Amino acid sequence: DDYVLEVENLKKYFPIKKGVFSKEVGSIKAVDGISFGVKRGETLGIVGESGCGKSTMARLVIRLLEATDGSIKLQGKELTTLPSKEMRSTRKDIQMIFQDPYASLNPRWTIERTLLEPMKVYKIGTPRDRKEKVADLLNKVGLDPSYAKRHPHEFSGGQRQRIGIARALVLNPKLIIADEPVSALDISVQAQVINLMQDLQELYNLTYVFITHDLSVVEHISDRIAVMYLGKVVEMADKAQLFSDPLHPYTIALMSAAPEVNAKQKKERIVLKGDVPSPANPPSGCTFHTRCPSCMDVCKVKIPALKEVSPGRSVACHLY
Ligand code: SF4
Ligand code: MG
Repeated sequence: DDYVLEVENLKKYFPIKKGVFSKEVGSIKAVDGISFGVKRGETLGIVGESGCGKSTMARLVIRLLEATDGSIKLQGKELTTLPSKEMRSTRKDIQMIFQDPYASLNPRWTIERTLLEPMKVYKIGTPRDRKEKVADLLNKVGLDPSYAKRHPHEFSGGQRQRIGIARALVLNPKLIIADEPVSALDISVQAQVINLMQDLQELYNLTYVFITHDLSVVEHISDRIAVMYLGKVVEMADKAQLFSDPLHPYTIALMSAAPEVNAKQKKERIVLKGDVPSPANPPSGCTFHTRCPSCMDVCKVKIPALKEVSPGRSVACHLY
């Protein structure tokens, strides 16, 4: 199959030290052995509560962070061992869209400069080509090209995210990772930005990894979905399968607690006991066992592996 991104057994452990000069006393398993693939033109949604490792995973893929272990392949090319010189040219193939577009835009630069700069850095096209590309992209993201001379503070949150999207597209990336791209926006603007991302995906056959804590957002945009809990993928399925028949007790609880999702499913709301445990001291066995309504004896001692239960559908739970 035509995989743009393949991640295998990816891990990121952050060492815990008691003092600056003391030895390591443990580690935070922020990402603990996750595997997934993303095909060209599809959207993989990654959903989970804050602190489940979603953003760390994104930063590993773009190599803002070095992985502790595991493999990340972009169109077959291994990134974790790529020399930094080569990584520099590969980095343009993976672009990010961030939660807060304002923080990720240079306030002193005009929008035109923000969009021109990456093309200059990578020596793409003539100055004239670049200017044309900027005008074209502004059009495509629904902004008047005459706005090119304005600065970020002159735009609304939704418009800034459109600029963030244009910037992500300027180098024709092979993969776009969007980390909570609409969570900071008003509800009414969220749908517009998601619809724009879908239109652009169709137009350019874009490949997305879409990270969010919001189930209704992930249901809208994803083809497939991975559910994360405490640094692990606990369930992975096609969107329709996941929403019609969630298997993992954590997925079931998440869905029952999401008002828009539950309005359709009409299931009893499951209130999980306690908070998400600290990744510095995760529970033994299945890390969800301290909160799971279906916990069995085996769950406290044995880690459930992510197993394929039907084609394209995997779950990490001793019930299956
Ligand atoms: Fe619950 Fe056990 Fe399944 Fe973990 S393995 S989700 S504790 S039933
Ligand atoms: Mg995050």
